[in-house]
This record gives sequence, structure tokens and C-alpha cells, in this order.
Amino acid sequence: MTSDPRPHTQPPAAAPAVREDDWRRAADLLRDADEVALICHVTPDGDALGSMLGLGMALRRAGKRVVASFGDRHFAVPRLLRFLPGQELLVEPAAYPAEPGLMVSFDVPTIDRLGLLTPNAGKAKELIVVDHHPSNTGFGTVPIVDPSAASTSMLVEQLLARLGYEVDRDIATCLYTGLVTDTGSFKHSSTTAAVHEMAARLVATGLRTDEIARELWDRSPFCYLKLLGAVLGRVTLDERAAGGLGMVWTYVTRADRAAYCLPYEECEGIIDVIRRTDEPDIAVVLKEDDEGSWQVSTRSKGGADVGRACTALGGGGHVRAAGFTSHDSPEETIAKLSALLGPST
Ligand code: 5GP
Ligand code: MN
Repeated sequence: MTSDPRPHTQPPAAAPAVREDDWRRAADLLRDADEVALICHVTPDGDALGSMLGLGMALRRAGKRVVASFGDRHFAVPRLLRFLPGQELLVEPAAYPAEPGLMVSFDVPTIDRLGLLTPNAGKAKELIVVDHHPSNTGFGTVPIVDPSAASTSMLVEQLLARLGYEVDRDIATCLYTGLVTDTGSFKHSSTTAAVHEMAARLVATGLRTDEIARELWDRSPFCYLKLLGAVLGRVTLDERAAGGLGMVWTYVTRADRAAYCLPYEECEGIIDVIRRTDEPDIAVVLKEDDEGSWQVSTRSKGGADVGRACTALGGGGHVRAAGFTSHDSPEETIAKLSALLGPST
């Protein structure tokens, strides 16, 4: 166990990542708008969708016309996130404004993560970028980007406070989902006092943390267990990989999923089983999507910077959790990744 003991009276040390000017400009743009177009990254996770729907519901309650979407070719809310309130705001990419006056992106580090809706963002008059990825490239006109935030939904909560909008139970459910998913149920090192303080504010609205946890992590169809059996059966541990940091990895093919009638999204949780392996620093799961590309999920316990390696391979993410798309075989992809990963200095 490592810890970072500090006297409880010490104020936050770092300078604020988001400029006061940008906070003010984002709040002014949102307050003055009649119509707002919201967008999160493709194959949305709890933080991307929760942040977007949370702000979307507050804006709609303030009397604005709101549309929200994500640019997946097969547009569908992942099963695990169907409990989120606010989904009546969602429109298919084809119905999204071509040249929005005001657009807001959530949890998007690079503009291509908008998928089919990338051109719409390019034509937006104003684009507020709410994000917490260190790999954020600085696109958009108003950057609300803070890599020290544990989730994008933490930045949304601040934005709502600046707008003076109330956080009711439905909005809180969305923001909490972002917080609890991106901190891995308050387990990751990003789980600061500020995270717990925000959770306390959200829980005080009456949301059901037990029901959210069950929806997110504690349910799956029976055939998921069969798929997991197959995938765990071919797991590989290479303790010499990545300059001796070690790597555990496995993969899920389209054929595996077809055999058990499972959609791609059902594989998102497999990395959380793999990464519990004691011996290596790094865990990787390669998931073949419906188009035949491999979506690669990587995790580190802190010895390696997987975000840097994934960025070099065309993806992005954080030091301990990142991903990219590969068109090579799993073995070739693992070799490339292993060559890029070594002890971080
Ligand atoms: P996951 O493995 O759970 O899909 O993703 C872990 C982290 O890596 C998330 O922060 C996610 O946004 C980021 N990530 C995953 N895949 C990609 C990718 O293809 N491109 C970029 N830029 N980030 C990714
Ligand atoms: Mn996030």
C-alpha cells in the first residue's frame, strides 16, 4: 500500500487548470443560448453519457431547446446505461444540427472521438469542451479541461453551480454515474476528498447508490458467464513484457460474441476481471467490434503510462487507463504495445 499523507488543513496546491475567463464564458454562452447541442464520445461510458444528460436536463429545465447525441454508426445507448434519466434528449446522429450555434462536448479528448458527428463540431459557431483527459488536444472555442478532475461530471457540477441551476435527483444520478464509473467505484487513485465531497452532495438529493451500482456492475445475462469462461481460458501472462513490468492480456472475437449472442458493449467489463491479476503492472483486453477492428483497453497499476503508449498508437486516455483502435492481429498489437511500454520515469 502507498499513501500520500497530508495535514487535513493543507489547501489544494496546484493552480486551477481551467481559466476563470473560460468558466465565465462557458456559463455566459449557456445562459444566453435558446438552443444547445450536446455531444459525448462514441461508444459512451458512464461519465460521457452521464455528464451530457446531467447538464442537458438542467438546460432543458431552464427553458432551452436541447439535443444530445453521439456519433456511433449503430446508435444505441449501452444496456448498462439505460437506467440513466434524461434519455428523451437523445437524437440519432442523422437528426443532429449540421451547424450548431452552441455545442458542448463531454469527455472527448480528440475531435475524431465524435465519430459521425465530427464534421458538425467543426462547423459549430461555439464549442465548449468539458473534459478531464490529459491527452486533450485543445480543440473547441472554450476549454473547460482539467486533468486533475476524477471525472468530467465533476466539471459539469461546477458549471451547474456557476449557472445557478439546481441539481435534483435525476441530474445527480447522471453526475454520480460519471463519478462512480471513472473512479472505479471510488477505488482508483483519483478518488480524492473532493470526489467524496461531491458524492455526498449528490447522495443528499436522495439518489439510490445501491440501485446505480447494481445496474452498472452487478448484473449480466447468463451467457456472459459462458463468454467470460472462454475469454479467461485464453488469458496470457508475460512477466517479461514492457521492460519487465509484466502484462496480462486476452481477447474477445466477433465469433465469441456471436456464439453467445452478446453485443460488443457487454465486453466492456472484462478488463476489470483481467486487471486484478497480481503479478503484472499492465492489463490489456482486445475486443473485436462488429466492423472487425480491435478496440484495445489498457490498464496500469502506475508503473507504466498506458495513456502515452495508447496516444502513440492513435488513441488516448489517462496514465492508468487508456485505449486505442488496432487493425493488426492481437499478437501483433500486443508486441507493438509492449515495445512502447516500459517503466515510467
Ligand atoms: P476503456 O478501456 O474503458 O474503453 O477506456 C479507458 C480510457 O481510455 C477512457 O478514458 C477512454 O476515453 C480512453 N480511450 C479508450 N479508447 C480510446 C481511443 O480509441 N481513443 C482515445 N483518444 N481514447 C480512448
Ligand atoms: Mn471520463
